[in-house]
Amino acid sequence: MTEPNTSEFPNDVALPFQVESLGVRGRLVRLGNSTEPVVRAGRYPEPVAALLLETQALTALLASALKYDGIFTLQIQGDGPVSLLVADITSEGDLRSYAKFDPVALDDAMTSTDGLLPHLLGAGHMAFTVDQGPDTERYQGITELMGTTLAECTANYFRQSEQLDTVIISAKASPPSRDGVNAAALMVQRLPASSLEGEDANEAWREAALLAGTVSPEELLNADLAGNDLLFNLYHERGVRAFDAKPLRHACRCSRGRVSKTLASFPRTEIEDMYIDDAVAVTCEYCGTEYAFQRTDLDVLFSESEHASSENNA
Ligand SMILES: [Zn+2]
Repeated sequence: MTEPNTSEFPNDVALPFQVESLGVRGRLVRLGNSTEPVVRAGRYPEPVAALLLETQALTALLASALKYDGIFTLQIQGDGPVSLLVADITSEGDLRSYAKFDPVALDDAMTSTDGLLPHLLGAGHMAFTVDQGPDTERYQGITELMGTTLAECTANYFRQSEQLDTVIISAKASPPSRDGVNAAALMVQRLPASSLEGEDANEAWREAALLAGTVSPEELLNADLAGNDLLFNLYHERGVRAFDAKPLRHACRCSRGRVSKTLASFPRTEIEDMYIDDAVAVTCEYCGTEYAFQRTDLDVLFSESEHASSENNA
């Protein structure tokens, strides 16, 4: 067993573990402080925040099971009131997310339906992308949304596309708190190769999945119950081994420079339509930071980009 994580934000971690005697490995993810931009007052209505919390927890969960050097993105698109959920995480553990939704259709869906996933997202798909920079191959997995929760949809993806028996259990705090755990997810996966064979292996998998299913949302979200202790409670009879926890944090990669580049990629005439009081304001969808550009800033920006493109064409 490893020592409890003592990072700056002790509630934001991904904890890998293995239960060899059952032929399974897993991850426990908990998110506290890193959910602040999602649960910030006034940012998202409750049902959207709840979906985004789950998206963030699943993103951290899936990424922590991969070896990569770059950015892992989980993108969920649907034709329902919530049309987009996106979260990404760097290999350093910097996590961010945002959602797009139609407020009127959302209100409608919450009053006239059960408010479950199929009614909020509708028909759609989830896509996983690993971007390791230019000159590398992008990995992408894509699957239809099948299930009543995002955790269920993700587990279905593993079963169908990767032929990997998987159980994922997620929980989110309602209402979220400032200092607690606001989102959590537990994943247990059958190891492709273990010392168990045939019916023994199937029996062990059933036991592992059954035990995972006994974890309660309260336990997953209980900041006073260390991740190691939670895993011990579940699997101590079978000898669980937890590895080093990886610290996670909210961090956005936006900057004035990046926003400038995006603006410069639009035709100047479109930018003209964006002026309010002689300035163009751009808000980062991930973190909410506002960048304001005065007319003189944009004059400089466009003369620079025209200069650069004429040099490229030369
Ligand atoms: Zn940002």
